[in-house]
Amino acid sequence: MIFFDLDHTLLDLETAEIDALTLFLRTSILGEKLPWDAFYPAWEEIRVDCFRRYLDGELTYDRQRAERMRRIHEVAGIELSGKEAYTEFMRFHAYLRESWRLFPEAEEALNRFGSRPLGLVTNGNARQQHDKLERLGLQDRFSYILTAEDAGCSKPDPKMFRIACEAVGDVPERCAYIGDHYETDIVPAESLGMLAVWVDRKNGKLPEGSRAIRVTDLVAAANETIRILG
Ligand SMILES: [Mg+2]
Repeated sequence: MIFFDLDHTLLDLETAEIDALTLFLRTSILGEKLPWDAFYPAWEEIRVDCFRRYLDGELTYDRQRAERMRRIHEVAGIELSGKEAYTEFMRFHAYLRESWRLFPEAEEALNRFGSRPLGLVTNGNARQQHDKLERLGLQDRFSYILTAEDAGCSKPDPKMFRIACEAVGDVPERCAYIGDHYETDIVPAESLGMLAVWVDRKNGKLPEGSRAIRVTDLVAAANETIRILG
């Protein structure tokens, strides 16, 4: 089975976030208080921290949403209650949903796999990831979907990849994982013996000795995966 990551691999979430934030800031006090160059790095740092705390079970999914908004307002010297922060987050989220897009080459890449079954292994929350798939028109493309919520563990824990391989009845050596994040996706997949295909749009470098494949777009990822696994 060929498994994919969703966020930043198939879905261009960075562009979507920037587009949605630009629209959100036009009608937010934050837009007046923080210039973009101060806002965006702080937002990103808070986002990564809050999402990690969600994956670690410290915050619920909705709490990490509110917490992201509360903390970015705090950076601008504005106090928000949890309820106000959640309302603001959902205002941003409405723009975000409208901005979700696949990477331009994603459809061509998925088509290259023909009728081979494809799976999705994602750290996102189940409701949110299914919503994304539906909006992107991919709800029927994956015959197996595993979210961190369903698995009870999250990437980079290799256990999550093992659960996926076992669920589809394939040994890891016959499976591939295609993802954008070296530490989260590639290291654990490779450690289990899966074919790990790193879609690296940021021009990174594979460490010496890695057996992973590094490509810079999804069509190349599809070609390499098919060439090796058949
Ligand atoms: Mg990703």
